[in-house]
Amino acid sequence: MLTIDTPKKLPSVDRLANDPNNAFLVEEYGMPLVTQCVQTVLSEARRHILAGRTIEYASLIKLLSEETARAVQPSLRPVINLTGTVLHTNLGRAALPESAILAMVDVARGASNLEFDIKTGKRGDRHKHAEDLLCKLTGAESALVVNNNAAAVLLTLNSLAKGKEVPVSRGELIEIGGAFRMPDIMARAGCKLVEVGTTNRTHGTDFEQAIGPRTALLMKVHTSNFEIKGFTKSVTEPALAEIAHRHALPFVTDLGSGTLIALDKYQLPHETTVTEALEAGADLVTFSGDKLLGGPQAGIIAGQRKLIAKLKCNPMTRAMRPDKLTLAALQAVLRLYTNPARLAVELPTLRWLSRDVAEIEQLAGRLVTTVQNHCKGFKVIVAPTHSQVGSGALPIDRLESAALKISLPDRRRSGKSINKLAKAFRELPVPVIGRIADDALWFDLRCLEDENHFVENLRSLAIV
Ligand SMILES: *Cc1c(COP(=O)(O)O)cnc(C)c1O
Repeated sequence: MLTIDTPKKLPSVDRLANDPNNAFLVEEYGMPLVTQCVQTVLSEARRHILAGRTIEYASLIKLLSEETARAVQPSLRPVINLTGTVLHTNLGRAALPESAILAMVDVARGASNLEFDIKTGKRGDRHKHAEDLLCKLTGAESALVVNNNAAAVLLTLNSLAKGKEVPVSRGELIEIGGAFRMPDIMARAGCKLVEVGTTNRTHGTDFEQAIGPRTALLMKVHTSNFEIKGFTKSVTEPALAEIAHRHALPFVTDLGSGTLIALDKYQLPHETTVTEALEAGADLVTFSGDKLLGGPQAGIIAGQRKLIAKLKCNPMTRAMRPDKLTLAALQAVLRLYTNPARLAVELPTLRWLSRDVAEIEQLAGRLVTTVQNHCKGFKVIVAPTHSQVGSGALPIDRLESAALKISLPDRRRSGKSINKLAKAFRELPVPVIGRIADDALWFDLRCLEDENHFVENLRSLAIV
């Protein structure tokens, strides 16, 4: 074995890159990338030697293969979400059902009839692919899909209220993480926001007084991620719709998350459904595809045909149109809603939200020893916790759940820390993301289904 003890004995970049042992790397990833990785490995080796240590030539080969693997790893990759927030915006929101994944793969591989009518052989409409099912499921006359709900709101306001006024309750002028602020969206849509009422109380008469010749529509915004409690009043949907219609104005509801089903059937708190919002008098509703619906990122606008037609004519629609993968996935997800009996089995979002706490506890019970064995010096127990829906849906409701709670019985002596432990879990081949609270690392197991995969992944856990 060749031991290298001075920087001079290190191989040249050329020599290491062209070592026959690395030929498979060059073949797979190309010489430019391998050369770059060789430079990284050699400079690290030099530092190592200058620090008074030695290195074997064979380890350079091994380090190079590891460095190359690191370099080609995609920056966007799967993680295991054990945060307890089911629809976690930073972790990609809804997980797609198998049928949606297959539908995407199907259209991704080649040509599709995205905008082609197979019957007539003429040009078709991409919006058709989701519209028919959306109408059937919500009772809407017409529907339009765009990139996300922020786009749906922007498009709606720009199409129906550009250069005009839109009265909105002060209690609904919200910011939803990621810089979506209702007043900013209004400004970008080219309409003038007219603030109505106060932060905690808005009455029907406030809207009546705000309506003038320049008013374009009335709007209600779901206060997704917060709730004002105490001395509050807001104008109900039917009351707002009545005021709007009496003044011959459209009434628009931004539902935010939006759901197509009565969640109380699954022992979840009730959230206004799209159908309920339409029945309450909304002429258009907007909602997300990847929140409670459990589908791909999308913004859905459903309601009156004549208003949707106006939206479709707006050149902005072209800039916000969904791609074929989104449409394929969305159609597959909507298809699941046509069989309510199987929905909670097939749709991951609903399956996890409605998962029985006893089942989660049993899973925790099965995993606690394994995790303890990988976390020497820490104490791992099964502890009750509460999951959240996330993404602003049902913001204050908590779902009973079970977690693995990892804490440090003796912090001072061990030199270990919960933060370092959390980092070690994040550095696993498939990063495991938990939540730190009360000096402990919590893994809420609500969204964990593949137990074997989780255990297999743990084998690489390196606790420092
Ligand atoms: C989440 C949300 C949005 C933005 O939806 P995206 O799909 O994230 O663009 C808009 N309005 C409300 C009320 C929301 O909750």
